[in-house]
Amino acid sequence: MVKCKNCEAQWPANAVLKRYITLDVGMDCPHCGKIQYLSQEYRKRSILATLLIPLLILLPAFFNVSFIAIALTFVAAFIAITCIHLFTIELAGEEETWGNGYNG
Ligand SMILES: [Zn+2]
Repeated sequence: MVKCKNCEAQWPANAVLKRYITLDVGMDCPHCGKIQYLSQEYRKRSILATLLIPLLILLPAFFNVSFIAIALTFVAAFIAITCIHLFTIELAGEEETWGNGYNG
């Protein structure tokens, strides 16, 4: 579940969806109004999940499958990855930047 790091309140689904589709780095918490960012951990995970798409697209190339099967695999992969992104969203109270620090 997506929780605000400031007020600990759970974000409603529409706020999570809005957070997911907007490209802004920060978004106001619908409860306390404090700006929340995506955590570095989440961004790492989302990149890993996104990297699965080309793998899934390449996979049918090794088998003798129809175009329909490839198209279905692509659609299924796209939906699965969107779900993974949405259900693993994690917020951070402040913007975490790449590579400044040694906390992994
Ligand atoms: Zn809040």
